[in-house]
Amino acid sequence: MKLRSLATTTCSFALLVAAGRSAPSTGSPFSGMPPTASRPWAVHDQNRPQPKRVEPGTPSTPEQPGQPPSDAIVLFNGTPASLANWEADTPQGEPSQPTKWVVVDGALECVPKSGFIRSKAKFGDCQLHVEWAAPAVAKGDSQGRGNSGIFLMGICEVQVLDSYNNPTYADGSANSVYAINPPAANALRPPGQFQSVDIVFRRPVYRDSKLVEAGHVTVFCNGVLVQDCTPVLAENYNQIGWRPYVYPETGPLKFQDHGNPVRFRNVWYRPLPPRPIDGGFDGDLTPEAATAKRREIAATLRADAAKLTGAAQMLRFAESLYYENDAATATQTEVLATAYVAGLKALGGAERDAKKGEAKSVQRAFQYLAKHGFVPATYAPKATLDQFATAQGWDDVKK
Ligand code: MG
Repeated sequence: MKLRSLATTTCSFALLVAAGRSAPSTGSPFSGMPPTASRPWAVHDQNRPQPKRVEPGTPSTPEQPGQPPSDAIVLFNGTPASLANWEADTPQGEPSQPTKWVVVDGALECVPKSGFIRSKAKFGDCQLHVEWAAPAVAKGDSQGRGNSGIFLMGICEVQVLDSYNNPTYADGSANSVYAINPPAANALRPPGQFQSVDIVFRRPVYRDSKLVEAGHVTVFCNGVLVQDCTPVLAENYNQIGWRPYVYPETGPLKFQDHGNPVRFRNVWYRPLPPRPIDGGFDGDLTPEAATAKRREIAATLRADAAKLTGAAQMLRFAESLYYENDAATATQTEVLATAYVAGLKALGGAERDAKKGEAKSVQRAFQYLAKHGFVPATYAPKATLDQFATAQGWDDVKK
């Protein structure tokens, strides 16, 4: 993008944001590849929604917990008050009970033989942050040393274990997806120090009671990738044996009581939006969803155009055509385009020259629309404007 047009884009965007428009159209929309049947947005489409703003947090150190990002839902922040976000993991159907786990030195500590603890919040797909520390004085070995667990939706266990100089079976060591996949590395700090665990969890997805995506879990421990999109099987040895198991929509986060006073701190999550199962990523939708999104964008642009005048109005209507090429808007655009070109031709010399830049923008828009088939190659306003521009000696501007 040239510097001049970038400056124009930035300025226009600021004005549109100030005006509170939901779908700003900035710069020249008549460039690049238009939307396709499965991608409602063009490449570099200025009508595509902006990412939401999240204020980043601060990283933790082994000594000090960091701060969560601004949109995180905090489950435990070191205060006794945040213990109210948790309860004992009573059997299904039984009344809620307070947990017997305790807050010690700003950490949530397992009281052996008191049972699992679970969050009152229930959630599915998420980014989850947990920090945990095994007892500083290592006791026991293998599965008996500093054992707990992070149970996603209360089902899938990311193992918590003092695996620092403590061999055990690989698919049960710290940061294994228990019984499913060993961690790619052992990146633990010594016992007594807090380990920082970041998880991206995608639950299995079903349609008509059939599994359509197994789901997966990605885990970083102390900044080291230890699980890379590991499939979350729809059957879980840890819970009910190797039998088919249907994940619900949401479930609580659970920490395991495995008989060791493991501590947790700085626990937060960010819910993640549902995945588009029928398409790849956010920009690649089913034809039906893409058509619906394109209609939505076109309607916003038409509503915006109705508030404009002159060339800006005509161009905004024209822009809407490549999201939804409906006959009424096409006709309206052609009427406005014809009037624009006629008005340009009627201007006197000085006024006409002052319109050169605008006229060239309109000319490029017509060329783009014709090139991509949104108007006929024989589009009358285009032919008239091309002829007029040549007669004026305006072909110095690159088409
Ligand atoms: Mg465990």
